[in-house]
Order: sequence, then C-alpha cells, then structure tokens
Amino acid sequence: EIFPGDFSKNPAQRNTPKVLFSTINPVGYDEPKLIAFNEKLSEEIGLGKLNETDIDFLVGNNLPENIKTYSTAYAGHQFGNWAGQLGDGRAILAGEIENESGQKTEIQWKGAGATPYSRHADGRAVLRSSVREYLMSEAMYHLGVPTTRALSLSFTGEKVVRDMMYSGNPQEEKGAVVVRTAESFLRFGHFELMSAQKEIDTLQKLADFTIKNYFPEITSEGEQKYKDFFQSVCTKTADLMVEWFRVGFVHGVMNTDNMSILGLTIDYGPFSMMDEYDLNFTPNTTDLPGRRYAFGKQGQISQWNLWQLANSFFPLIKDEKFLEDTLNWYGTYFWEAHDKMLCRKFGFDELKENDEEFFSNWQGLMQELQLDYTLFFNLLQKLDKISDLKTYFQKISYKILDEIKIIKVEDFIEQYHVRLSKNTISKEESLNLMKKTNPKFLLRNYLLFECIEEINEGKTEMLEKLTKALENPYDEIFPEFSVKRPSKYHDISGCSMLS
Ligand code: AMP
Ligand code: MG
Ligand code: MG
Repeated sequence: EIFPGDFSKNPAQRNTPKVLFSTINPVGYDEPKLIAFNEKLSEEIGLGKLNETDIDFLVGNNLPENIKTYSTAYAGHQFGNWAGQLGDGRAILAGEIENESGQKTEIQWKGAGATPYSRHADGRAVLRSSVREYLMSEAMYHLGVPTTRALSLSFTGEKVVRDMMYSGNPQEEKGAVVVRTAESFLRFGHFELMSAQKEIDTLQKLADFTIKNYFPEITSEGEQKYKDFFQSVCTKTADLMVEWFRVGFVHGVMNTDNMSILGLTIDYGPFSMMDEYDLNFTPNTTDLPGRRYAFGKQGQISQWNLWQLANSFFPLIKDEKFLEDTLNWYGTYFWEAHDKMLCRKFGFDELKENDEEFFSNWQGLMQELQLDYTLFFNLLQKLDKISDLKTYFQKISYKILDEIKIIKVEDFIEQYHVRLSKNTISKEESLNLMKKTNPKFLLRNYLLFECIEEINEGKTEMLEKLTKALENPYDEIFPEFSVKRPSKYHDISGCSMLS
C-alpha cells in the first residue's frame, strides 16, 4: 500500500529510500524436513490442521501464486549508535491470515533467503538459532509474556557456513527455517527510518496505519492522536520489561530495531533465562565489556530506546515538553510496576513503605550467595516444610555456602516473615499469588543446548519433553528440570553466552 519497491530481481541491493517494503520471493528449499509444528497455534490463527503438502509452504517453497511475499525496511540504534537503514535481512512476510473471530495474524519465514536488506549476510538461519527461537518464543507465550510466536521449525536440507565466535573456524551447520507469527512485526526502527529520511508523509501514514490497526482504543485526533500513541507504546514497553524481570529473561540485543511497537518480545538471538541472580548478567558475548544489555539494565535501556522513538515522532508531536514528561513518567511508572511485581513474587498484598529496603537487601543476598532466581522463589513457598535451611539453600546456590552465609539466609528469612505478618491477605491467598507469579519450569540455556545437540543427531525426545514442560511452566511436570544448571555446563560456550 505504501510505496512498494520491486527487488525480486536484485535481492542484493541495500539502500531503498522512499520504500517501506520490497517484494521478494523466498529462495525455496526443495528438500525440507519438518521438525516441529505448533498445531494449537495453527488452529488459533485460522490455518487449521497440517496437511502433507503444507511442508513445502513452511519453508517458503512452491508458493501459491496469490501469496505476495515481501520484506520490510527499518532502521535502528545498535549498541547506542545510529546504524542507518537495516531491515528484514532474513525475514520474509507471507502477509496476514484472519481467523473466524476476525483476528488477524502476520506470518513470516525466518531464514528463507536473502532480501534487499541482507547487506553482506546470507539470509539463512541455522538449526541452533532456529530451535532457540521456536522454543523460547513459545515458552514466553505460555509464561504469559507478550511475544511473537512460532508455528513451525524445519530443516531446509541446505548446509550453512557460520563462523563460531571463539573457535575462529567457519563451520557448516544445518540450515533451518522458523515460521513465526505476530499481530504485527512493526518495530521502533520502522518509524526511525522514515523520520531519519525526512519522509514525514510516510511516517504519518505509517503511524495512522499502526494506530488504526493495532491501537483501536485511541480515538483522539490531530496531534493528540500521536501523543496517545506514544504514551501507549511507553506503557506497553514498560509492562513488557516488568514481565522480563518477573521471569528472569535477558534479551541480550535491545537495539531499537529489536523493539516491537506493540510491546512484544521480538527477535530471539543471544537471549538467556537467568540461572543465578545477577543484575550484571548479559548473555551476549558482543555486549562485553560494556554490558549495555545486562539483566538489570533492561528498564533504563528501554527508556533510552523510547527516547529514540520520541525523536522520530517529533515531526508528528511538536511538543518537546510532552515527550520529555512522558519519558520521565516512564521511569516512575516502570519502577512502581516493577516493585509491585516483586511484591507478587514474594506473596505480599501490596507495596508497603519499607518494601524497597527489603528488596534491596534481598538483591544483596541473591548476588552474594549466587542463588538461582527461579528456584529461590519456589523454595520460598516451601519454607514451612523445611527445617534444614543449609541443605536446601545449598541446592539452589552456585557457591559453597559456609556458616556465615547461612546466618545471612536466616536473617533474611526472619525479615521476610516479619513482612509477611503485615499482609492483609490470608496465607493461602499469599501462596496462590506466589504460585501464579513464579514459574516452576524455566527454559534454561543449557536445556536448549542439549536439545539442539540431540536434534542435530536426529533425535527429538528432548524437543518433545521440553515442549510439554514449557506449555505448563507453572507446574512441575518433570522434576529433573527443577534443578540449578549442572556444573558441567558452567564453562561451555552456548550454555550461558552466545553471539
Ligand atoms: P539482529 O542483531 O539479529 O537483530 O540483526 C540485525 C540486522 O541484521 C537485522 O536487520 C537482520 O535482519 C540482519 N541479519 C541478521 N542475520 C542475518 C542473516 N543471516 N542474513 C541476513 N541478514 C541478517
Ligand atoms: Mg533483529
Ligand atoms: Mg537476529
């Protein structure tokens, strides 16, 4: 609808001024092998059951003529610097599907070949990154965290060469394609691109399109409409960050091109769930030594990213004070929502006066004793049944706990009981709150690592087991997954850090 460019004959081209998307065909892999298919999602979005002939479609092969495929152009700030035009370098959209209740879902292949936005890369995806995206996006969905979703995971039958970070030797890996879905894949970067190129008409059209389709609650007009839009993006982003903190998710590459305008978790790359609690933990080797995208920084960084979005909205909202006030409000809103979320994790009725101090003592304890974030909150729910603190806390610590450290645990638990006694809700309500807020199953990086090794060898048992576990993250289906990361994985690259 808005200035399409036809690049199907020359996918290598990079700069595409005045263009929001380019038509491009998937490269087509003619020996696809389906590894996993998400039947529930398929039914939900209106695609129905899987037929034998769909396997081609799932890698973008032999497409029906009426499907017009395209990739979109966006820009972004990467690691704090303006990166200029980027775009879907290995993502191709198949368009939208509508289900029976009129809900629309965009469908996208990741790894279906080069596009005008691939720059010097190949537009391919490998098994490793594809399994990680397929499983993690679904894990996040079932945890209740806003996210893009994954419909299928297939081998392409092609080998892809990748340079492993530390080995320095290029290695062949199995090529794969994930079909992912979202209400929209629009990013902050789409708006930044139009603004940076001073294509204000298109910027406005894009904003109007986004509001009309994805923010129907906004009914204001003129400049107020864009103000309400910006305010809503801020709220959704803050809410998402709080959810990441709740489950211990570290995105790892919070560049503005990886920020969804709908507040979804998008672009699963070197992410990780947090094992031992550490505000400085970054799973991304490219993020060292700065640790810009560390766990504890995700609130501030999202605000910085919104600042860039505000800059790109300036042609539509010529009210600097409003933009600044909203960004300042963001900080207040985020921290309050964050602290209220922590209250729920601890089973507290509401945020009380001294809770912030309690939380900062708790953070100190977690970091010093290297306690597992998820296991800690599960242990907290069982305190009544535990007489031997030392044994239990040792099981969730990545350090040897001596007597002095156990005394610190005892002190903390005493503070915790004092705070619990101030609750106006019953003990049962408090426990229910904790059960709903604290997952029992976490898709840890080492589990993904083991699963990928297995699939590479042609086995899918682990994949099936993890799928079952991640669909029920608030239950303990497989007790063997409710343990801290085994020590043998401590130094294996790929288990906690990636690039
Ligand atoms: P990321 O840091 O993964 O968000 O990627 C930054 C940009 O590089 C995005 O525009 C991607 O589409 C592009 N990109 C990443 N990997 C590839 C690839 N294998 N082929 C083409 N483009 C890629
Ligand atoms: Mg990206
Ligand atoms: Mg990526």
